[in-house]
Amino acid sequence: MVEVPKSIQYFCENCKAERKHRVIKGKITEGRNLRFKGVIRCSGCGATREVEFAEERPVMVHVNISFGETTKTERVEFEPDEEIVTGETIVISGRKAKVTKVEVNGRTVKRADAQNVDRLWVKDIEKVRVKLAVNERKFTKPYALLAEPDEEFYVGEILDTEDGEVVITAIKTSDKLIKRENEPAYAEEIRRIFCRRVT
Ligand SMILES: [Zn+2]
Repeated sequence: MVEVPKSIQYFCENCKAERKHRVIKGKITEGRNLRFKGVIRCSGCGATREVEFAEERPVMVHVNISFGETTKTERVEFEPDEEIVTGETIVISGRKAKVTKVEVNGRTVKRADAQNVDRLWVKDIEKVRVKLAVNERKFTKPYALLAEPDEEFYVGEILDTEDGEVVITAIKTSDKLIKRENEPAYAEEIRRIFCRRVT
C-alpha cells in the first residue's frame, strides 16, 4: 500500500513553473504505474486544481556500500530510468557515495539504467570529522579536520592546521593506541590524533 504524500511537485500554469503543491485530498491506485488522483493547491499562487497522473514505480536495487574497512548491503530505491554511472557520485540514504561497480546480468558494465541493475557497489565518501589534540608544552589545543572514511593516517605524518604544521605522535582508535610509525589508522575509526608542533 503506497501512502498518499502530503505534497507533490507539479507544474503550475499560473506560476509557469514546477511548484510544491499541498495535497488537499487524493488517492493512489497501484498497478504497473502509480496513479495519483486528487486535489492539490499550489504553494506559489494558491490555485487549487484537480489532477490525475501516473508515475513509474521506483525500483529497488541491492547496493553494497563500503565504508572504510566495512561493507554492508542495503536495498535502495531508484527511479527506473535513473542512469547509474561507474565513477560518479550519488546520494544513498542521505550520504555521498561513489559508484565503484555496476552489475547487469552477471556482467560488469560502465553505466546502466537503475531498472536493469542487479547489484551496485558504492564507496561511502561522506567526510568524517577527525579530532586532533596538539601538545603545546603546557596545554593541549584541539583542532579538527575532514577526511574521507578510508583516508589513512600515520604516526610521523605532517598535517596542516590553521596555526601551522604539526606532526602525528600517536593515534587513538576505537580499540587501540597506535605509536608505531608504519601502522595506518583509517579516518572512520579514529577517536583522536595526538600531535606536536613541527616548529
Ligand atoms: Zn502557482
